[in-house]
Amino acid sequence: MRDPQQDLDDLSASGLRRELRILSGPQRPDIEIGPEQLLNFSSNDYLGLANDDGLKAIYQEAIGKYGIGSGASRLVSGTMAPHIELEEAIAAMKKTAAALTFSSGFAAATGTITAVVGKEDIVILDKLCHASLIDGAKMSGATIRVFPHNNVEKLKSHLQWADKNQSGQSRVLVVTESVFSMDGDLAPLKEICEATRSSGALLMVDEAHAVGVIGPQGRGLAAELGVEDMIDFQMGTFSKAVGLSGGYVCAERAWIDWLINRARSFIYSTAPSPALAETIAAALEKVQSDSGDSLREKLWRNIHCVDPSATSAIIPVVIGENEAALAVSSQLREKGYLVPAIRFPTVPRGTARLRITLSAAHREEDVKKFVASGLLSNR
Ligand SMILES: *Cc1c(COP(=O)(O)O)cnc(C)c1O
Repeated sequence: MRDPQQDLDDLSASGLRRELRILSGPQRPDIEIGPEQLLNFSSNDYLGLANDDGLKAIYQEAIGKYGIGSGASRLVSGTMAPHIELEEAIAAMKKTAAALTFSSGFAAATGTITAVVGKEDIVILDKLCHASLIDGAKMSGATIRVFPHNNVEKLKSHLQWADKNQSGQSRVLVVTESVFSMDGDLAPLKEICEATRSSGALLMVDEAHAVGVIGPQGRGLAAELGVEDMIDFQMGTFSKAVGLSGGYVCAERAWIDWLINRARSFIYSTAPSPALAETIAAALEKVQSDSGDSLREKLWRNIHCVDPSATSAIIPVVIGENEAALAVSSQLREKGYLVPAIRFPTVPRGTARLRITLSAAHREEDVKKFVASGLLSNR
């Protein structure tokens, strides 16, 4: 039998071993890891809500009202008033009839895909889709087709192929992200919506990195382009710009009722804490408010300070080899900046990179100092 230590040594030898970093204080731009004081350019807390005083007070109050645990899965006795209020809030934000929340975005992705498609069906994904979408597709047992990143022509030819190879009742599901998590670029979402609609397939869009950052009131890229009604499943997470944790999918009522009956990561998992659900609903309100707009303005100023052409809060600096990416990352860390090296299998081999993320919580002068450090000049 293979020894795990040997596997770990192999990872170390190829620069692929990963380790946990422990923050001793809250999640914010100024962090402490052991004796080091660092500026954090690696968080997905794009609006700085993870440590927002108003939301912290709401969380504490909600604990007083509902307690801390939900005690059971949603279908047993774990559905409490805040869960339903949250689902109404996210459905309204996404302009759909209904929504379902999950304990994480990962669970939302796998639960939804496996409930919608099975072995008679076909899933077509963008090559750079997040692990949760890929795992959902694999777990579903459906036939999988992958199109090169953002390549709508290849998507169309997969859709034509699917049309020929599908039998009467079977489903075809197209899956993409709107903002890609490791590249920060945008999907050609309108073209994808049009191609999918004209072939009669279903479309699922993961807006994990778009919500809170892009679109009117931070409602995402689908809202920005006005294509919400062409997307069957608008999926995402509360763990990035919304500042907390949990996942959701927004869809028509019948689909949501079907997910309640078939999404295994929903059914066989304890409901999220009611106090958490109540706080997420308040965070969604904040994201869509005027104060959300000011946070977004600040976020975008910070983003453009690092890269005037950036299209999201994620700015990749592709280095190539693992060791080289690790070396730049540790140089940055010596200067007081936390920018981890992202390596295979999170990104394809040979494309190891630094993934810089900006937040509204960053001080502009810190962002300027970071840029002026010149450590990113090999872009
Ligand atoms: C982070 C992420 C998820 C998973 O969401 P969690 O709530 O963190 O589990 C899903 N899809 C994409 C694109 C993500 O970046």
